[in-house]
Formats: sequence, structure tokens, C-alpha cells
Amino acid sequence: MTDIELINLVKQANVAAASGDRKHAIQIFREVVRQDPDHASAWMQLATLVEDPEEKRACLQRVLALNPYHEDARAMLATLEGEETHAPEVANDEDVEVLTCFYHPNRTTTLRCNKCGKPICPECAIRTPVGYRCPDCVREQQDKFYTATSTDVLMGAAVAWGSGLVAGVILWLVIQILGALGFFGFLAAFFLGPAVGGMAAELVLRAMGKRRARRFPWVGTAALVVGILMVAGVTGALFIALLTSGLFLVLAASTFYARIKF
Ligand SMILES: [Zn+2]
Ligand SMILES: [Zn+2]
Repeated sequence: MTDIELINLVKQANVAAASGDRKHAIQIFREVVRQDPDHASAWMQLATLVEDPEEKRACLQRVLALNPYHEDARAMLATLEGEETHAPEVANDEDVEVLTCFYHPNRTTTLRCNKCGKPICPECAIRTPVGYRCPDCVREQQDKFYTATSTDVLMGAAVAWGSGLVAGVILWLVIQILGALGFFGFLAAFFLGPAVGGMAAELVLRAMGKRRARRFPWVGTAALVVGILMVAGVTGALFIALLTSGLFLVLAASTFYARIKF
């Protein structure tokens, strides 16, 4: 049978269905799917025309096998199953769209990526500040965000380390001037730590041209901490004023990290 003959057959069947001749329409649609078993719309028509629920179900499953996104077929199948089992949970599910995960074709889901609309299962969905996204869209977004070259990263780490050295000297001066165990040394560390960390972050961001790299916040913070510890170790600040040094270090590093990260 040629394509033209098949199209004519479908036309005849539609005319029969439209004129209320259900029996004849079913007969012709059966012939259509016998000739072309992949004819989804003929299977769908058959599903609406036949009365036997088992046959209806078989037709709908056939449609869904050909096109898993066929909304009408899914809805009809859900209704059919809801009527047969009288299960309230199935009936309630009727208005929820059932989809198949793009990454796991054997998993059903009701979630979609809010950027590209791809169906995703809860395991694939990544929660972002703007909603659930698929891994592809998240990676695409990250690639746009992380534009630093390896030279930028080296430069940033070097500036962070240098800032750490300067911060270590500032810490040593504070301890020298205000005393190793004094309340004022502690207070100075409390205010100077975040200030120094913030300034170091500013310098580093400038050195990198405000470009970001995926793991740089950790690398940069480590470089800063190493710089501070080196000076604090050499000058002995770490040993004579552990609490003041520790407070200064933690506050400088956390402020630096937070500023670099965002
Ligand atoms: Zn997506
Ligand atoms: Zn998945």
C-alpha cells in the first residue's frame, strides 16, 4: 500500500467516525494500523472509538510507546485506570502531568527544568536560587560565570599570598603595640581581621579583572592563610598571642572567602 492510499484510508475512517458510523471507522482504522503499525494518530483514534477497555488500553499504550509525550493518551489512560480500579490516588493524579526524565528514560517525574523545560527526575534536578534546573543548564550557566584563565588564577593566588604577608605584619604590629594578651589587642583583631580580609579580597578581584574560577575561593583563601601563618610563625605572633592571632586569622580568612565567592 502506498502512502497516498494510506492517507485516503485514514480520510475514509475519519469521515466514517465523523458521521457516527463507529463500526466502519473502527474497521478502517484497524486496517490502517495493520498497514502502518507506527501510525500514532490512528492508534489514538482507535482508542477513542473502541469500547472494550482492554483494547482501549492496548491502543493507548501503543500511542505512548510511539510518543511518550502524548498528553491526551496519558490523560485517557489515567482516566481508564482510575475508573477501573476506583483508586482515589490515581484519580487525583489525573491533573498532574506525568513525564519521563530526560537523563533516565525509565523514570517518571512531574518536574521540569525551569530554563529549557526538559523533564527531569528529582535526582537530576539541581536546586538553584531561581528554581529547579537540569544539569546541562546549570553547567552552561557556570561556564558563563567562570571565565578566569589559569594566569588569572596564578595572579590571584599570588596577590592573596602577598596580602597574607602584609596582614601578618599588621597582626604583629598590633600585638607589639597593644600587648600580647591585652583586651585591646583582642579588640583590634576583632575589627582589623575583617577589614584586612576585605581589602585583600578587593586587591585579588582587581588582579583577576573580576573574573572567577570554579575553585578559586578555596585556593585564594588558602594562599592568604599561608601568608598570614608564615609571618605569624616567623615573628612568633602565633606563639605569644595565640587567641588574638587565631581570631584575626579566622575573621580575615572568612571575610576574604565570602567576598571572593560572591
Ligand atoms: Zn535545562
Ligand atoms: Zn533523572
